[in-house]
Amino acid sequence: MWQAEVRVDLDAIRDNVARLRAGTSAELMAVVKGDGYGHGMIPSARAALDAGADWLGVCTLDEALTLRRAGITVPVLAWLLAPGLPLHEAVAADVDLGAGSLGLLHEIIAAAQRAARPARVHLKIDTGLSRGGATPQDWPALVEAAAKAQSDGTVEIVGGWSHFVYADALGHPTIDRQLSVFHDALELAARAGVRPRYRHIANSAATLTRPDSHFDLVRPGLAVYGLSPVPGETFGLRAAMTARARVMLTKRVPAGAGVSYGHTYVTDRETTLAVVPLGYADGIPRHASNIGPIQLAGRVRRIAGRVCMDQVVVDCGDDPVTEGEIATLFGSGAHGEPTADDWAAALDTINYEVVTRFGSPRVPRVYD
Ligand code: PLP
Repeated sequence: MWQAEVRVDLDAIRDNVARLRAGTSAELMAVVKGDGYGHGMIPSARAALDAGADWLGVCTLDEALTLRRAGITVPVLAWLLAPGLPLHEAVAADVDLGAGSLGLLHEIIAAAQRAARPARVHLKIDTGLSRGGATPQDWPALVEAAAKAQSDGTVEIVGGWSHFVYADALGHPTIDRQLSVFHDALELAARAGVRPRYRHIANSAATLTRPDSHFDLVRPGLAVYGLSPVPGETFGLRAAMTARARVMLTKRVPAGAGVSYGHTYVTDRETTLAVVPLGYADGIPRHASNIGPIQLAGRVRRIAGRVCMDQVVVDCGDDPVTEGEIATLFGSGAHGEPTADDWAAALDTINYEVVTRFGSPRVPRVYD
């Protein structure tokens, strides 16, 4: 018998990847960083690969090495690398590395020399996000250093890549502007003799809506897990995650009963309260106090009062509710339960954050 669980429908992940794969002639990198957006990195990666993903994308060196240790041999790109990491381990494990600065490129070159094999590098151009990557001003120097290292045989420049600011806002002017900067950067690299086999910029939103941004490789994350990057559009995707728990206690209380810490909720009539064993340690933001929707006893209700570390309370009125009954925070919506999108809208956040938060080790993930 379980108390609380996150169920992950791996068939949904497979279907989503197959759908994304069918929509492009580019190769597909399933992004599985952040523990597979909260769905579990290794099972999500395996499901994506089953359905035709060619690559896996992660942020950290540790995530990449974890994939390798699990016996996954497809190309893996890691792109968030602080100075001083043991990059020779990545080179030895055949992990591709994203580099958007001369400093990192030099570290990768040193790592390749230490590992006594060429490092596989994807040069990153900052086309407008002002986050990772070389600015258009710094790009020529990065390309020049990369061209030299490539001709020395220390690195293989496998990719040239960037990331969108606003691909989820269809038709946003930054999309064309970034594509234009990306094209120019790739042309400049080609003139310097750097012609990466894989040019890539498309996240889920661009994969789904901008075929002209697919180049040689697309990098969807969110859509792999069945969530839509564009509010109001499903693109035929199926949400893979359901978060739920069993009611541990019910009680009848009179009108005027204050509920949970600080009594921010007070019953307005005699009512039945249900205590559900999931709290902010498990991934429910405390900000969901008196807001978060939960399906229980046949209806979608709001959390009553403050979210505690381990539990929340739901006011069920006079509806019959029993101990052990299932309360569903969110799922695919197929059974009338709230979705991650509903939670995101209620909490003024994004569906990415809703699912990624549910990574607490004490809530078992169960795979269907
Ligand atoms: N590429 C990079 C560099 C990312 O950081 C991310 C995620 O933020 C993705 C691709 C996947 O984005 P999305 O989940 O919107 O598809």
